[in-house]
Amino acid sequence: MKIVFLGPPGAGKGTYASRLQDKFGWPHISTGDLVREEIKNNTEIGKKIKPYYDEGKLVPDEIVIEMLKERLSKDDCKNGFILDGFPRNLNQAKELEKITGIDLVINLVVPKDLIIKKLSGRRICKKCGAIYNINEIRIGDRVLPALKPKVDGICDKCGGELYQRDDDKPEVIEKRLIEYQNQTAPLIDYYKEKGLLKDVDGVGTVDEVLERIISILNT
Ligand code: ADP
Ligand code: ZN
Repeated sequence: MKIVFLGPPGAGKGTYASRLQDKFGWPHISTGDLVREEIKNNTEIGKKIKPYYDEGKLVPDEIVIEMLKERLSKDDCKNGFILDGFPRNLNQAKELEKITGIDLVINLVVPKDLIIKKLSGRRICKKCGAIYNINEIRIGDRVLPALKPKVDGICDKCGGELYQRDDDKPEVIEKRLIEYQNQTAPLIDYYKEKGLLKDVDGVGTVDEVLERIISILNT
């Protein structure tokens, strides 16, 4: 199955995509991770895109599309994949169609105030990429538990060190949300018109939301 995850930053796209990868075996492809890898390795491309990343802006289409093309050409993508963070604008959606068809677009619906709380509490494992959240979140009288590691700052899975992404700092979060609203949100209507879009209520525990997603995959 070829799946695209849509939704604002912090909606949990990466978390659910990686859980689906574990369950169904389709590779989880995050263009954000591809971008961070280039920046970390200080490659030519990395140097070019870092200023955009640091500002919470989308990096130029040509560069991300090239990275994605290369990733999708690998063998493990033959039977399907889960895209997280791509496409991010209309042009990327059209370019994706030239590379491959997709079967389903899952749109995670999460209100903005919750997004900001989730992003500011997000912590990631340096070694294995596992995602945690140190904030407990209250919505009305519901409490969503934090996803804390057993030991502060240390990954449960691999013992790696947890860190906060540079762009999860408050100054950048606001810019990313604006970028999402202007560039990415229009894709919701685009995929709706194509009959590919399914809305999923993204408010709940990881297991609850995952259950909703899986029930769509099973229909
Ligand atoms: P989130 O969904 O939490 O905002 P990502 O990890 O998907 O974070 O993206 C982080 C940053 O990487 C973006 O702000 C942008 O600079 C860059 N990026 C990721 N995917 C794309 C894309 N498809 N097109 C352009 N820039 C991208
Ligand atoms: Zn880890």
